[in-house]
Amino acid sequence: MAGMQCKCGKILSNTSSPNEVQLRVYSDLEYEEILGLSSIRDIFPPKNDVWRCNNCERIYVFDEEDNLLKTYVLEID
Ligand SMILES: [Zn+2]
Repeated sequence: MAGMQCKCGKILSNTSSPNEVQLRVYSDLEYEEILGLSSIRDIFPPKNDVWRCNNCERIYVFDEEDNLLKTYVLEID
C-alpha cells in the first residue's frame, strides 16, 4: 500500500523510506523467532501492516492483503 486518506483528512503515505506513518509491530512470538535468526537478512516483515496518522494519532491495522482490519482512535478524557 502506498497511500490513503485518514478519517481526519490527512493523506498518509509510506512511499518515502523511512517514514513516520508505517510502524513495525511484531507479536511477542514473532519477536522471539526474530531473535533466533542467524542473520539480519532473514528478518521477515510483520504479519500486519500498521499505520499511524501523525495528525490525529489514529492507528490502522491491515491484513496481509492490505485489507483494513481495525481502526483505533485515541481516547480523549
Ligand atoms: Zn488522522
